[in-house]
Amino acid sequence: MPELPEVETIKRELLQKIKGKKIVSVEVLAPKTINCPADKFKKIIKNSRIKDVQRRAKLLIIKLSNNYNLAVHLKLTGQFIYKTQDTKYDIQNTKYTCLIFTFQNGDKLFFNDLRKFAFVKLLNDKKLEKLLAEKDFGPEPLDKTFTLKVFQNLLFQKKKAKIKPLLMNQNFLAGVGNIYAAESCFCAKILPTRFAGSLTKEEIKKLYQCLRKILKTAVTRKGSSVNQYVDVFGKKGNYVPLLKVYGREGKICLRCGSKIKKIILNGRGTYFCPGCQR
Ligand SMILES: [Zn+2]
Repeated sequence: MPELPEVETIKRELLQKIKGKKIVSVEVLAPKTINCPADKFKKIIKNSRIKDVQRRAKLLIIKLSNNYNLAVHLKLTGQFIYKTQDTKYDIQNTKYTCLIFTFQNGDKLFFNDLRKFAFVKLLNDKKLEKLLAEKDFGPEPLDKTFTLKVFQNLLFQKKKAKIKPLLMNQNFLAGVGNIYAAESCFCAKILPTRFAGSLTKEEIKKLYQCLRKILKTAVTRKGSSVNQYVDVFGKKGNYVPLLKVYGREGKICLRCGSKIKKIILNGRGTYFCPGCQR
């Protein structure tokens, strides 16, 4: 599932490509993706402009000029693909296309989803606020306000939670998922199964630094393409070669030479090194 770095990449690229553009039409190929009847969806969006594109946790928020918003969750395999009017695209290849937005200049934005779990919700400002309140996301790990002190205090309130699932809990921290939680634990030499309350001050500091550094680097490398993830231009992210533990079961630990193990923790495949993570 796309995590913070992947969703942030898409946000930045969408800002670059669609901000200020006027939508002249929308095609709804998969009505299940949206939250209202297709006719209503098309009518409200038609002739609006893209005011802004934001991200909160793994949610993309496309703000329209008419005080409506598109709240988009990519879930497992959602993709936004931008095509300029002169690029050729094969309509046969749009089997997984759910929505097509056409802009005034003829460019198109495709929303594709192989697994069909993603959603695009058309919400007015008030309803968006309500959705965000319900989701109750934790702090953004790359935000300036997310200091070591804040992290320490949050962990202090969750002493009995295991650290890796806790990092992935969206109400605890926003945007971190299976890949970056495992990588952060490895970087900080902490076993994913440790209780938050068992971490020393030094370990918490290390984990905080690792988490931020990994997420920042992953954003600059446009994320990890482990499943269907591609950016707005259809390109894969470049973080996979930097993965130290995720997906490396049975391979040699790059730090200590032990064999990387995989366990199931809270229902999720969890990679760690039994040699150097404590
Ligand atoms: Zn190791």
